[in-house]
Amino acid sequence: MPLSEQTLIERFFRAVGAQRGDVGLGVGDDAALLRPAPGQELVATTDTLVAGVHFPPDCPAAAIGHRALAVNLSDIAAMGAEPCWALLALTLPQADAAWLAEFAAGLGTLAREHGVALVGGDTTRGPLCITVQLLGQVPPGRALRRDGAHAGDALFVSGTPGDAAAGLALVQRRLEVPPQWEAGLRERFLYPTPRLALGAQLREFASACIDVSDGLLGDAGKLAAASGLGARLEWEALPVSEGLGAACGAERARVLALTGGDDYELCFAVPPERVSALHAALPPARWGYARIGTLEAPAGARVMREGTVMEFSHSGYQHFR
Ligand code: ADP
Ligand code: MG
Repeated sequence: MPLSEQTLIERFFRAVGAQRGDVGLGVGDDAALLRPAPGQELVATTDTLVAGVHFPPDCPAAAIGHRALAVNLSDIAAMGAEPCWALLALTLPQADAAWLAEFAAGLGTLAREHGVALVGGDTTRGPLCITVQLLGQVPPGRALRRDGAHAGDALFVSGTPGDAAAGLALVQRRLEVPPQWEAGLRERFLYPTPRLALGAQLREFASACIDVSDGLLGDAGKLAAASGLGARLEWEALPVSEGLGAACGAERARVLALTGGDDYELCFAVPPERVSALHAALPPARWGYARIGTLEAPAGARVMREGTVMEFSHSGYQHFR
């Protein structure tokens, strides 16, 4: 028997994610009622995933559910904010109960991990497309923005960018790697880890922050441009995972670290006089981040290798070009 829209919502999306005391009314009425903590600034973001554009259509449903929330959590992390409430607009070619159960579990597990309640949404029929809207809160005036950096600020990135691009290539069977690295790299694409704890801590240290979704070089350039600056990255300083290095060699791994997409890491600037306090409070080995360069006055984003500027054919994935 085909699922009605109402049964589908009731069965798969009624009690997804965390139960929060500040949800006056969740899934089921015409709209949700939320009670932000008094005096907090509301943070809002939304991201759409289109099958065949943002993920291969045959990805595991759990990975699609995870990703739909993760990309939004990553935006909230980059603002240094706390995520709270999510809305899910789901367009499905058909109501497949097994697929829906897996999708909701993937989204729900990540939501609970970060204390996010699913409070509403919309369900329609059409080509597979998922939009999540995520709301959060942050102490007023304390959010991390892209436009707060100054010339001379040190530039950092979390994690090991490039892994997800290799993972996508593996999923699409465009890449072969030694078997011991395959599952790990694939996971890095299928289940990105939004850096919420780091983002919240960075409110104390960072002058600007952006999440890396379209390639590190391009996104570092966006942060720099928003601050009226340019970015200089050091080739030798780019962090590359052991798996990525083993999979494609050090040279190609660094190119992927700069230009591959889907990392969902944080790229952030720290004033030079705050760097030692940052390192003391958040030891880089424990928190997983590395210095990759410096912000400076000349516009643009460039990579220095042994004193000369490297040339790149493109500096990030773009949808309309
Ligand atoms: P309306 O016709 O008023 O938009 P819907 O039938 O679309 O109502 O939705 C009924 C309730 O279910 C609403 O509270 C809505 O927020 C929620 N909802 C619909 N689809 C989803 C979904 N995919 N995930 C979570 N909540 C949903
Ligand atoms: Mg509706």
